[in-house]
Amino acid sequence: LAFCQALPKIELHAHLNGSIRPSTMEELSQQLDGAPISLPELQRLIRQTTMIGFHFLPLPSASPTLLLAASRTLGECFKLFDVIHRITTTHEAIQRITREVLEDMAADNVVYAELRTTPKARPEQGMTKESYLDAVFRGIADYYASSRRAADIQVRLLLSIDRRQSAEEAMDTARLAVQLKDEGVAGLDLSGNPSVGQWGTWRPALDYARQHGLKVTVHAGEVWNPEETAAILAWRPDRIGHMCCLDETLEKQLLDSYIPLELCLSSNVCTESVPSYAAHHFSAFHATGHPVVLCTDDTGVFATSLSREYALAAAAFGLSNEQLTQLALAAADYTFLEPGEQRALRERMEAAVEVER
Ligand code: 5GP
Repeated sequence: LAFCQALPKIELHAHLNGSIRPSTMEELSQQLDGAPISLPELQRLIRQTTMIGFHFLPLPSASPTLLLAASRTLGECFKLFDVIHRITTTHEAIQRITREVLEDMAADNVVYAELRTTPKARPEQGMTKESYLDAVFRGIADYYASSRRAADIQVRLLLSIDRRQSAEEAMDTARLAVQLKDEGVAGLDLSGNPSVGQWGTWRPALDYARQHGLKVTVHAGEVWNPEETAAILAWRPDRIGHMCCLDETLEKQLLDSYIPLELCLSSNVCTESVPSYAAHHFSAFHATGHPVVLCTDDTGVFATSLSREYALAAAAFGLSNEQLTQLALAAADYTFLEPGEQRALRERMEAAVEVER
C-alpha cells in the first residue's frame, strides 16, 4: 500500500456525493431537521455504509492485511445515494464536500482528477443547477485557498446526467456543461441506477455536448442489458465506466473499439456486479493491452481510496510496481484534457516517479 500511496495517480471516475467523508456524512445528518428520514434510520444506514463486512485479501506485504469494505447490492447503493442527497441539500454542504474530496485526493497523491456530479435544482433550498455548480466551484476555490498541497492536484469537472432524468433535463445539463467549458467543465457523464430509463432518452443531450466539443463518458454494462450496451458502444463514448456484464460479442466490440475503460474494483465487488476481485474483468482487459484506468467510484460509500484500489489490483492480479507505475502514467492519455495538457501532466508524473525512485 505504501508504494501505491507514493505513486502519483489520476482519478477519472469519482462521484462527488458518493465520495463524501463518512465523518461528514454523520455530522451533516446530526443537523438534519424535519427530514423525511428519521435520524436513527440515517445513522443505521451510515453505520452499514462504513462497517458492512470484512474482505480478507493478502496484500504484497509481510503479513496479510485486513481490508474493510462495504458489501451491498447495486439497488441498495442507489437507496443510499438518496439518503446522502438528503443530507447534502444546501450550498454550504456541497461546497464543503467538494473541498474535502479534493483534500482527501491530494493526501492520497492524486495529481489530476475529473470529479463528476449531477447538478441539482432544489427550489425549496433556493438552489438551481447553476447555483449548485457555483457551490462546487467555491469548494474547489476553498481547497486551493487553504491547501499547502494545492499545486499538487489539477481538477476538471464532468457534469452527470442521472438516468432518472427526462430528455429535457438531460439537455439542460448538457447546455450548462457547454456554457461552462472554459470554467473547468471537461465533459458529460451518464450515470444513475442502470435499471432505470432508456438510452435513447439521453442520447440527444450527449450528441449536443459532443457537437460542442465536450467529451463524454457513459456508465455501461453494470447490469445485463446487451441491447443497451451494444447501442452505447456503437455511439462510441470517449470513455466507458464499468462494463461488468458482457457476452463474447460485446467483449469483442469493446476490444475492437479501443475505448478506455474506467474500472472500479471495490465498487464492482461490493455491489456484487462481479463475484470477486480475482474474477474482475480488469485482468483480462489489461492483459490484452486495452486502455484501462483504475478508479474509486465512491470512496465514501465503498470505504476506499485510489491507493487502495491500486493495492487491490496488485494483490489480486500480481501486478509489479513497474506495472502499477505504467498503469498510473498511461491514465494521462485517457483524460479529457487537450493533447498538450495530457503530455504536460504525464511529464509531471514521470518527474515525480523519478524522484521516488
Ligand atoms: P452526485 O452526482 O450526486 O454527486 O453523486 C452520486 C450519484 O452518482 C448517484 O446518485 C448516482 O446517480 C451516481 N453514481 C454513483 N455511483 C454510481 C455507480 O456505481 N453506478 C452508477 N450507474 N451511478 C453511480
